[in-house]
Amino acid sequence: MTLAFVVVLSLLLPFARAADPKNESPTPAPTSNPASAGPAPAFVIPPAAQAAAGKPFDPIAATDAYLATIPADQRAKSDAYFEGGYWLRLWGFLLSAAISLGLLASGLSVRIRRLAERLTRFRWLQPLVYGACYLVIVTALTFPLTIYEDFYREHAYGLMVEPLGQWLGEQAIGLLVNAVLGGIAVFLLYLMLRKVRGAWWLWAGAGTTLFLLFVVTIAPVFISPLFNRYKVLDDPAVREPILSLARANRIPAENVYVFDESKQSNRISANVSGALGTMRISMTDNLLTRCSPGAVRAVLGHEMGHYVMNHVYKLVLMLGIVFLISFAATAWGFERLRTRFGIESISDPAGLPLIVLLMSSCVFVLTPVINTIIRMHEAEADAFGLNAAREPDGMAEAAIKLAEYRKMKPGPWEEFIFYDHPSGYDRILRSMTWKAENTAH
Ligand SMILES: [Zn+2]
Repeated sequence: MTLAFVVVLSLLLPFARAADPKNESPTPAPTSNPASAGPAPAFVIPPAAQAAAGKPFDPIAATDAYLATIPADQRAKSDAYFEGGYWLRLWGFLLSAAISLGLLASGLSVRIRRLAERLTRFRWLQPLVYGACYLVIVTALTFPLTIYEDFYREHAYGLMVEPLGQWLGEQAIGLLVNAVLGGIAVFLLYLMLRKVRGAWWLWAGAGTTLFLLFVVTIAPVFISPLFNRYKVLDDPAVREPILSLARANRIPAENVYVFDESKQSNRISANVSGALGTMRISMTDNLLTRCSPGAVRAVLGHEMGHYVMNHVYKLVLMLGIVFLISFAATAWGFERLRTRFGIESISDPAGLPLIVLLMSSCVFVLTPVINTIIRMHEAEADAFGLNAAREPDGMAEAAIKLAEYRKMKPGPWEEFIFYDHPSGYDRILRSMTWKAENTAH
């Protein structure tokens, strides 16, 4: 279940988000009132990517010229960082599988369920007691990998600016959010499992889809502000072109929000999200301080594409199908394995680690499918953004800045399996192709 949240929450997080949402730069961006910091430094377009009258424009040469602006040692470092991420996914999956198997095979899972039965005679409350113990155990056992992956490794690669104390504080908030959302999910899941006989996986698939939709809707207004401060952007020179782009695409936004990402990393990103009154355009202070106005418009054009094309709903529905298939496989495996671990039935909370084990195995195997579904939508948003903002060089600039923590030019299989956004090379090539076709010769 947790994996499901991670997948969908990662979609909500914006343009910049790939395998990891951090950005590389040796010095932290200034934190003092970036909303009025004025225009960011100009970005130099490489000569081969500059269009000139009477000269044919070659998109591939232009893309290569952009790539050549990244120093070789920085390319090697970001490739190593990104490729290391492939292995970390495997280790993360294996660790979580080992924890689930350990809980089941040692009999600890059954003992926790018995404890829950002793603590409360209300059957509906027992899964919550079980879930709380489970959350504590899993969080504690995965913590060494979490702190290595999300803190020490980030610092080792120079991607994070945040001190340990602040990071730990955010982890604690994250744990609380997980406890509340996970508690609701576990409560509803077992309520349903006690009532439904037979095809419970159908209900679980549909329920997960609705629950994700709920999380997606509340996240921008109720979850994101737990981690960052949001301020209304009051500089009209920056705000007005963005609102104009919004009006041109019938996006009902009256304000643009800026949040203080610079206290965590130098990641540039933005977000146009929400529904039913939670709709908002927001962007990181880093986007304003590190990117040219053209790149800001390019990034926001992309984000507006997600909004206009209802990507959140389409993604939740498509991923809902992936979850439905995973739940069906889980139901099949559960019945074959449960007696080995002393689990009475599907509605026995002691079976939670087995459900998690089977679900996460399915999601792990289906990673390329999930990534392809997301990447497809990202490519659509890129096309929309280019047409809406008409800033191909801004788009290329953003792709170059994102390359600080991403491998720019993967092989085709590598991109298919691991990339949830088009690669940097592909994004620049799309931009330069657009530029070639929209430039008068
Ligand atoms: Zn996107």
